[in-house]
Amino acid sequence: MLTVPAGAAEAAEAGASDTAAVAAAPNFKAPYPCGQRWTYSHHSAEVRRALDFVRADGGTTNGTPALASAAGTATRHSQPSGAGNYISIDHGGGWKTYYFHLGSYSVASGQFVNQGQQIGTTGSSGNSSGPHLHYEQLLNGVGQNIVINGGGLPYPGSYNQSFLTSDNGCGGGGGTPFMTWGTGVSVRADARLNAAVVTRLPGPTSVHVVCQKQGDTVNAEGYSNNWWSKLRDQGGFISNIYIDHPAAQLPGVPIC
Ligand SMILES: [Zn+2]
Repeated sequence: MLTVPAGAAEAAEAGASDTAAVAAAPNFKAPYPCGQRWTYSHHSAEVRRALDFVRADGGTTNGTPALASAAGTATRHSQPSGAGNYISIDHGGGWKTYYFHLGSYSVASGQFVNQGQQIGTTGSSGNSSGPHLHYEQLLNGVGQNIVINGGGLPYPGSYNQSFLTSDNGCGGGGGTPFMTWGTGVSVRADARLNAAVVTRLPGPTSVHVVCQKQGDTVNAEGYSNNWWSKLRDQGGFISNIYIDHPAAQLPGVPIC
């Protein structure tokens, strides 16, 4: 809201900060197209903290685009006895993602890719029992537990226990544009003050709000509001207090 001085947001949010490691990670999204529902599992003999994904929405896994889960610099690799045709993406800050067993490459080595950009097609190249997308997140070369949109995924031992619907690449005009105000505003994985911090908005930011929902009540500078906006490009929620609009519930924005 316009009448509250910048800086107040930071103070209001200061009591609910998260670890630097969480804040530093890119806002990874599912490595396959918007709206698709896939299931995933982790095998005991698997390398690092990989998850293997197959489609669970009736579509065919083989040939489905593999998408960059965050922006970065792509590199092609080939390991016929193991990972097959695969892409690594260097996201900076020590973070990389891997995409194994591709049927084909869609980008050149050294090419910068945006989040949601197609990097290849899902396949079964290398040591693979069938078409699937083997996906990893690494920090300084060490496999990490996979986090999508700020939330950690479980590691089930077989398929059809856990599912993930992609919102990667759902942009392209989606959402309603607003400005935010304040500095250091936390974007959280859910509409709760104790939800993980996905990223922070350093200052007033142009955002696209895809939907809104009611969550924890936020009190700041005399305002009280339990509505939160889901931001398209940041992949998380901010209190509607920090959206530069006088209404508590934003007009023309659907409910999540
Ligand atoms: Zn695998």
